[in-house]
Amino acid sequence: MPFSQLGLQPELARALSDANYLRPTPIQSKAIPVILEGNDVVGTAQTGTGKTAAFLLPLLQRLASPSHKTRGLILTPTRELATQVELFLRKYGRFLKLRSTAIFGGVPQKPQVQALRKGVDVLVATPGRLLDLIQQRCIDLSAVEIFVLDEADRMLDMGFLPDIQKVVKLLPKQRQTILFSATMPQEIRDLACSLQKNSVLVEVARHPESVAVVEQKFFPVPSHLKADLLMHLLTRETMKPLLVFSRTKHGADRLHSFLGSHGVSSARIHSGLTQSQRKEAMDGFRQSRWQILIATDIAARGIDVHDISHVINFDIPNNPDDYTHRIGRTGRAEKAGTAYTFVSPEEEAFARAIEKSSRRKIERVRLEDFDYGAPSKSRGLSPRAQPRNDAVSRFLAPQKEKESSPKVFDRAAHAVQGRTGPTRNASSPSHGKKGQRDNARGRSRNSKDGKSSAKEGWLGLPSSEEQQELKRIRLKLFGTTGGNSFRERPSFKKNSRSRY
Ligand code: AMP
Repeated sequence: MPFSQLGLQPELARALSDANYLRPTPIQSKAIPVILEGNDVVGTAQTGTGKTAAFLLPLLQRLASPSHKTRGLILTPTRELATQVELFLRKYGRFLKLRSTAIFGGVPQKPQVQALRKGVDVLVATPGRLLDLIQQRCIDLSAVEIFVLDEADRMLDMGFLPDIQKVVKLLPKQRQTILFSATMPQEIRDLACSLQKNSVLVEVARHPESVAVVEQKFFPVPSHLKADLLMHLLTRETMKPLLVFSRTKHGADRLHSFLGSHGVSSARIHSGLTQSQRKEAMDGFRQSRWQILIATDIAARGIDVHDISHVINFDIPNNPDDYTHRIGRTGRAEKAGTAYTFVSPEEEAFARAIEKSSRRKIERVRLEDFDYGAPSKSRGLSPRAQPRNDAVSRFLAPQKEKESSPKVFDRAAHAVQGRTGPTRNASSPSHGKKGQRDNARGRSRNSKDGKSSAKEGWLGLPSSEEQQELKRIRLKLFGTTGGNSFRERPSFKKNSRSRY
């Protein structure tokens, strides 16, 4: 379906043609007409599917006549995403006379307050700074007609629910509410119920087309050789621009120094940096001043750089949704891209769970010309040069520096840890009586005579036990034992008006 059939006004059609968008993506085809009609909408779409334009285009059209009162409010979980969304607002709305601004923490308030004083039609904000400025009476939300919650699942992961509730109390009851989320756990449904009336559900496949066009490979490699493998790949393949994901900010720092010491320049983006450092890293990457950006999950949320050629997961993400988000940074909007994931032996369970969730086998690559038996040249870099199963203990240890939110795998890791007692790391601080109890129970369940059961599944448990474990985890996380997909829930009708 061409854009012309979606009912968008000429100014928007012109901006889209200037942006070289030839046709709408599936989520845009589905969402734009229903939002234009004024419906409340719940959209399930992941990053890389074109979801931002799916809500911005109809929002711009519905608010097209400027009043310089805040009539559109878009909440995002991160500063980077707020900046990104506001850039798209300007891009799509360039032939309209609306004013917009983004407000977020970590930078001085003054310029934001000045922009607000001039009057804005559409405000993009992160919750904390928004509430601060409301308290200082710099923002009045009483005229809001359209309220958008972007990446709602991330918002909840990051603990923003109380802030969202405070903001919602200040909005007029009569408004249009649009909620976009990559996943649809029970908390999001509850939130949608509390915010919307008769909302229309629009969704695209759980794994968007852009993910399907990303070439994905797993590289099994011992932890201590990951940095060497990265250097090896850099010398053997052209990977520009390259986005490398690290699980922790310290890991990102170490990798940055390692690459620097080998003459490879890169930038980092993580929550330990100031906003201006993060902005400089992003701008430099966007403008190709450096070709490699090392990012943690949280900091990477708003990264939208065109034509990222490769994504490398230096550390495998510990839940499948993060994996999708990460690899969605390449191959965006139907462009081809490549995603490599380094998988150490202790991360294998995560690799298998990603395959299970995406229902596809990912090719495992072993390079002929790489020495997998070598001692590390990057001594001190890899925090993961640990014996097998230490990955599991790591998930039990307090993870102050871990940036991604613990979800299903962390629980899975607990399950593994609880039942594979003999290999437990004695230094793990979570060794309590309960752990010992679980441990003992695990031994008796898992092995009758000290040997482990022959038939094991992805959690390393006998497969029948594993099914039970999976059901328990799913029930707890998603309120259903049937899977974590929104589509699998019978109470939601596709593209139909449902009340919830
Ligand atoms: P999003 O899923 O909103 O993060 O968008 C992913 C990327 O797709 C962004 O870089 C957009 O500029 C791009 N994009 C969105 N819609 C289209 C479209 N219809 N055609 C081509 N590119 C698009």
